[in-house]
Amino acid sequence: MGNQAEASLWWNSATHPTFTPGELHRPWDVVIIGGGFSGMWTAHHLLNSSPDLAIAILEAHEVGSGASGRNGGWASALYPIDDATLAKRVSAQSISDLHSELEKSVDEIGEFAQQSEEDVAFIKSGSLTVARSSAQFKRIKSGLLPRESVLDQDKTNLRIRMSDTVGASFNPDCATINPTQLVVALAKSLAKRGVHIFENTYADISSVGSVSVKGKSVESKYVVRATEAYHEKNREQIPIYSLMIATEPLPDEFWKKYGLEARETFHENRHLVTYAQRTSDNRIAMGGRGAPYRWGSARSNKSEQHAKIHQQLRETAIQWFPDLKNYSFTHAWGGAVAIKRDWAPYLHWNGHFGAFGGYVGDGVSLSYLAANSMADLILGKNSVRASLPYVGWKSAKWEPEPLRWLGVNLGIKLSELADIEEKLTKRPSLLGKLIEKLL
Ligand SMILES: Cc1cc2nc3c(=O)[nH]c(=O)nc-3n(C[C@H](O)[C@H](O)[C@H](O)COP(=O)(O)OP(=O)(O)OC[C@H]3O[C@@H](n4cnc5c(N)ncnc54)[C@H](O)[C@@H]3O)c2cc1C
Repeated sequence: MGNQAEASLWWNSATHPTFTPGELHRPWDVVIIGGGFSGMWTAHHLLNSSPDLAIAILEAHEVGSGASGRNGGWASALYPIDDATLAKRVSAQSISDLHSELEKSVDEIGEFAQQSEEDVAFIKSGSLTVARSSAQFKRIKSGLLPRESVLDQDKTNLRIRMSDTVGASFNPDCATINPTQLVVALAKSLAKRGVHIFENTYADISSVGSVSVKGKSVESKYVVRATEAYHEKNREQIPIYSLMIATEPLPDEFWKKYGLEARETFHENRHLVTYAQRTSDNRIAMGGRGAPYRWGSARSNKSEQHAKIHQQLRETAIQWFPDLKNYSFTHAWGGAVAIKRDWAPYLHWNGHFGAFGGYVGDGVSLSYLAANSMADLILGKNSVRASLPYVGWKSAKWEPEPLRWLGVNLGIKLSELADIEEKLTKRPSLLGKLIEKLL
């Protein structure tokens, strides 16, 4: 598979750096497989403590060509599973540490962005979950996170004026970024600090962390697998496709009418996930799920360019902001997120080999934090980060086919139906509750 990031708005607006990594077959301290945020932040955190380490990053295509260079640009402090589920396995202290470390991570990404010469367009203005029906608003109020506040209709309208807005919740712990520019900033900074970045270098990794490239082994004291949704298909995780569209830059009169002056990230509180931002060049970049899961956890370019889902996204954007019918949609792309059976992120480390991921759709900040944990474990630091809930987390395997195909696609369909049910009955969807149980 080639570099499918090229269709994305972000990829198109960035100048990709070139690297001169030198000889691959020499002894390394750390070899990292995967040049996305997880892999590159691992190198960044390692160097912060041990600047002399010999580190190689092996990337099958170009750095950032996975999910990192083409996501929705929400750098949030969200975690894919809720506290009640975490509390069944880890202490209250560990959960509280997780949230404060995630909040800190958003700010640290901001500090990095600020010091960089690239235009990462980081702005921490929080995030809005908008209700466009009383049923959606009821669900917002009953599912509020500790640092979130409820905005009534008037207060919501001060920030965003989607059609049919009833109210919203506001989460302060989210920033908007241009993800490809963050990739470029990070990769350039690593190359400057002496990290050897090998692009177009596919690595074979065994389950115990032996690495080879084109059949020749690569020697390293430590090995990190940071391949997220591109990890070989098996029952450990599934790839679920998230698709995105972007408009042309929109004029001042559009923004005067609809708000988002502070560039908060935003979405509608539907069951089928949506997410959006006002970009630094005044477009709307918006994404959502709904593309079908493919048999056997197969990854496919067809899933990234699913015409029906892209069209649904455009229609949703026009429902939110009716004037969008007068403007062009210029980009349509997609990518995969990795999901474990219990939707929990993981980090495994055995003293030589580490692997992490399973961030669902929250990997922008979470990969920064998980990479920080990985670096601490490699360096033998006994830190809070080295024992956060995802460290050593074990999930059950996904069901064998055809159960997996049936179950996952049923879940996607039910989410769509739950939104229709809510529209018709004007009450929180019963199907939605069923989905929660299924998940
Ligand atoms: C469309 C979309 C929208 C999203 N929106 C958001 C969002 O708004 N906010 C958020 O928090 N998260 C979002 N996510 C998720 C987030 O982007 C990811 O969780 C995060 O980027 C994962 O980073 P990573 O480095 O772990 O994985 P990736 O960026 O996918 O990097 C993995 C890399 O490993 C390489 N690789 C794989 N196998 C090999 C091999 N054998 N040898 C060498 N290289 C290999 C791949 O080429 C790839 O570059 C979104 C994801 C998608 C797809």
